[in-house]
Amino acid sequence: MTTSATRADPGAGHPFLVFLNTVTDDGKSRRHNSFETGAEVIALLEAEGFAAPPTPLTQEQMHNLLTLRETAYAALSAVAAGRAPGREDALYLTQALKAAYQEAELRIDTDGLTFAPSPLGRLYEQLVLSMHDLLRSREFARLRECRRCSHLFFDKGRGVGRRWCSMARCGNRAKAETFRARHRDAA
Ligand SMILES: [Zn+2]
Repeated sequence: MTTSATRADPGAGHPFLVFLNTVTDDGKSRRHNSFETGAEVIALLEAEGFAAPPTPLTQEQMHNLLTLRETAYAALSAVAAGRAPGREDALYLTQALKAAYQEAELRIDTDGLTFAPSPLGRLYEQLVLSMHDLLRSREFARLRECRRCSHLFFDKGRGVGRRWCSMARCGNRAKAETFRARHRDAA
């Protein structure tokens, strides 16, 4: 969970959502990553509590991480809009969950059942278990997508729903665009 959340920027609300939000596009295209190298994405995920892998990411591992990211985004974007995920996307994600459970260490204690990725678990498995945590979260029904970009977040506020991933990134710019459009129409 990010600790830098403020009133203006309450954050995504879950480490897996932070992973899904590692794109910088203004619209919904998701073509630009917020990192350039494997080391950068690892540092970003370490800040969210994921354990860094012992060796640098291979090209294949990076490809798998991005496939997970985009498939989970497609599924959760549908859910945030009140639709069921696409069949192929749901199938990929359930297969990824099954494979991660197969390797995971399960523990029963006072917290109930907890899953931990195997000690050798790669970043991919850690992320899949984090997705499991997100899907089982009490706040799951509060999942929303930014109206301007493709970032997902938990809307923890009351009253009128939160519309933007953050005021700094999208809210202020969306308001400025609306203002300019009105100004244009009036002119
Ligand atoms: Zn946004």
